[in-house]
Amino acid sequence: MEILCERCRERGARIFSTRVNGRPEETTQRNLCFACHDIEHPGERKDMEKRRCRYCGWKDENGFCQPCMREFRRFLRSRGLDFPASQWTPEQFAQAGAIFMELEQHMKRWGAERRRKES
Ligand SMILES: [Zn+2]
Ligand SMILES: [Zn+2]
Repeated sequence: MEILCERCRERGARIFSTRVNGRPEETTQRNLCFACHDIEHPGERKDMEKRRCRYCGWKDENGFCQPCMREFRRFLRSRGLDFPASQWTPEQFAQAGAIFMELEQHMKRWGAERRRKES
């Protein structure tokens, strides 16, 4: 099922960003289509065209390639969290900071493993 852009709610979201700040309640999740992303972050997508997957290094404008995105979501689900963050319960928010730190470690290992297999 396609995730809709949360700004226009018409087009499919193409850019997914999770910002984990100091406190769990400040963790935000934005799912935007390209057009809305350009409105909120003018110029940013030009840089993203040169972007690679932040975990495995594959060229990918979202900053996540599909396999890494799937693994990312699988890991979150396995910890009882799933997108969108707007549907998280207060308990889930309370745990989110720690889970995202664990997730980051997990994804680094996963990305390194993918790079190793591809080369
Ligand atoms: Zn939109
Ligand atoms: Zn990747």
